[in-house]
Amino acid sequence: MKNAQCCIKCNQGKIFHAHDVLDRGEGNAGLPMAIGRSGVIHAHDFGTLEAYICMSCGYTEFYVQNPRELEDVQPDTGGIGLGEVRKGGPCA
Ligand SMILES: [Zn+2]
Repeated sequence: MKNAQCCIKCNQGKIFHAHDVLDRGEGNAGLPMAIGRSGVIHAHDFGTLEAYICMSCGYTEFYVQNPRELEDVQPDTGGIGLGEVRKGGPCA
């Protein structure tokens, strides 16, 4: 739905775009939901999520706001939610 005008499940066109998705941290603090956090002392969230929600059926799609920043994630920084880039070519 990010690039479509209608919901792919119910074909309705009223879509809510959430620039950030709420997560909860220690002490019930509101934090933006992300794929992970690199480092411990100088922590940096990466893969912060945004969402598109169909206002009719509730179908929701999540996207990473800046997917290119995942290229810079270092696997040995002691962070959480770390992954790896699986190299592949363009999909047909
Ligand atoms: Zn829908």
